[in-house]
Amino acid sequence: MRGRAEGLDTPVQFLKGIGPKRAQQFARLGVETVGQLLFHVPHRYVDRTRTLPISQLVPGEEVTVFGRVAAAGARRTRRFKQLVSCMVRDNSGMVEAVWFNRPDLKDRFRAGQEVVLSGKVTKYRNLQFVNPDFEVAGQDGFSGMNTIIPVYPLTEGLSGWTVRRAVKTAMDGFLNQVPETLVPEMLDHYGFGDIRQALAAIHFPTDVAAAEKARERLIYDELFYLQLVLALRRRRYAEARKGASLRRTGKLSGVLLSKLGFEFTAAQKRVTDEILADMESEKCMNRLLQGDVGSGKTVVALHAMMVAVENRTQAVLMAPTEILATQHFQGWQATLASSGAEARLLTGSTRQADRREILEGLSHGKVNIVFGTHALIEEGVEFARLGLVVVDEQHRFGVMQRAALLNKGLNPDFLVMTATPIPRTLTLTLYGDLDVSVLDEKPPGRKPVKTRVVPDARRAKVYGFIEERIADGEQVFVVCPLIEQSEKLDVASAMETFESVRAAFPRRRVGLVHGRMRSDERGRVMDGFRSGELDILVSTTVIEVGVDIPNATVMLVEHPERFGLAQLHQLRGRIGRGQDRSYCVLMLPRTGLGETFERLRFFERTSDGFALAEKDLELRGPGQLLGTRQHGLPDLRIADPVRDQQWLENARQDAFRMVELDPELSSPQNGVVRRTVKARYAGREELLRVG
Ligand code: ADP
Ligand code: MG
Repeated sequence: MRGRAEGLDTPVQFLKGIGPKRAQQFARLGVETVGQLLFHVPHRYVDRTRTLPISQLVPGEEVTVFGRVAAAGARRTRRFKQLVSCMVRDNSGMVEAVWFNRPDLKDRFRAGQEVVLSGKVTKYRNLQFVNPDFEVAGQDGFSGMNTIIPVYPLTEGLSGWTVRRAVKTAMDGFLNQVPETLVPEMLDHYGFGDIRQALAAIHFPTDVAAAEKARERLIYDELFYLQLVLALRRRRYAEARKGASLRRTGKLSGVLLSKLGFEFTAAQKRVTDEILADMESEKCMNRLLQGDVGSGKTVVALHAMMVAVENRTQAVLMAPTEILATQHFQGWQATLASSGAEARLLTGSTRQADRREILEGLSHGKVNIVFGTHALIEEGVEFARLGLVVVDEQHRFGVMQRAALLNKGLNPDFLVMTATPIPRTLTLTLYGDLDVSVLDEKPPGRKPVKTRVVPDARRAKVYGFIEERIADGEQVFVVCPLIEQSEKLDVASAMETFESVRAAFPRRRVGLVHGRMRSDERGRVMDGFRSGELDILVSTTVIEVGVDIPNATVMLVEHPERFGLAQLHQLRGRIGRGQDRSYCVLMLPRTGLGETFERLRFFERTSDGFALAEKDLELRGPGQLLGTRQHGLPDLRIADPVRDQQWLENARQDAFRMVELDPELSSPQNGVVRRTVKARYAGREELLRVG
């Protein structure tokens, strides 16, 4: 625990002019301390040093004009709900400014007021400013002419002016306490100023180019520390030595292969070779196995687990949910047993007596393979000899469990699997500490899922089709609308969907699963669906990963516009697993959602997960896919690894070289870096080992 918060840790509430209410608003922006406020940087600038008389405006230029309101008003248009217009005149001429869908501006302007408009001039009949930045001169908070005004990310209730004033107060009082974070050679090499100069240039810019340069410094800084954490982890992994090398004998793994009833694809053979080479080496494996849904990752993992067992070690398969752990176990137990391995399932709902027996089996080595959730390796579970840990769908967790194992003194081989296709830039960002294998080929004979975007107006028709499929003995998933940030609303909407589906299919058996259900209850519903007792399963995204029910051939997704493409792809991967043709219906609440519609049309015709992930990245930015905090990595607030790819590569090289030359960051010239890592990683150093 920290002592009394002081210096840069001072809560923003203690700044002059910020009370508890404002502090809460700042908190919504992720700004709680003075230090965070200093690093709350503008995302753009309004340059009022480029002013022009109205008569000299040219289309396409970013400029500022200063004049008086001649007339103002609001009107409705066909395409846009509402349009606020303001005519502004100076000595040389008149220009119109318009804002779309800004009802708050309706009564904002009065004839005779002095206003400043900044923005790009466009030509639509006459010259116009569309959605320009503006201020009314002389009013409270007027920034003045001939300045460059930083524009900050805002939240409801906080004005740009309030943020600028708070930043000013913080800079006046605390800038001289901000510690340097980069070593002098880096500053020289990239031509960066020191951190205080950089913050001053960013918050009080005198020219936009200098502000942008300073911003690059902060971008580089974030990416450098991200890569440094990855480099330190990788180093820590590399040091870990396991007891013995695990070499394929074929005694059990060969039997397993013979029982699969199919041949490995070329891609499965290739990644298997990569995995086996790692397992044979005395160093611990740290490998990411990436492969689209249905590419056959699980069997690759099971084969590796059998290799571990035939070397008299034990293997664990961790899944992110009980549903998945149970399904893996139920699906494979018989095959594993007949191949000569004793496998068990251990989850939060395993009965006490069974649990005790399994734990004993694990500690004596009688149980060879155990399936379960991450609780498996956290809660005082003892292994006789743990050889291999496989983590399925790692984007949900994984890295911290790895740390937990290392801290227990266990050094098993470690294989993480993900079905989320990750573009290369993000692989570097998130998994830069792992070796990567890619399964880029699907097993033969897969039929693509027929996908259609359908407007809600045709719901009755879709229901008719569903009825036919069920009459043919097939099963149906109905996926509820995604409601972010509120599990409670999520459940409410799931109930609603469930009720309406039940009403629409009175003669069919309908089940519901969602994240708030008790796990035994959820398990019962899943079992019912798997065994065919239920015709329709209404579900939130808990079915997103891994669920394998070949008889389900139709998926109806409600409000698909709320999902990312990668996520829809995961959902769609739940069908098309059996012999029958499968159908995915995306039910749009209305047509004409413009870009959304285009996005879903792209999904309609694309079945390649990587292409979909790239499109997501292009359309929605990396935030969706990234979630660095989940991975135990530093947050990126300013940097965007896709936009800033060059900085990412630089940062990666610099960070990995630094750790190679000075693994513990103990040399005096790296003191600045060592202190920064420790400060930013206080309490989370498990994997870093920085003294
Ligand atoms: P993933 O985990 O990558 O989504 P799975 O391992 O669950 O994929 O495989 C999906 C289905 O394909 C399973 O039913 C599996 O038995 C089957 N399968 C895997 N590899 C092959 C192969 N080489 N040939 C035919 N079927 C395969
Ligand atoms: Mg899987």
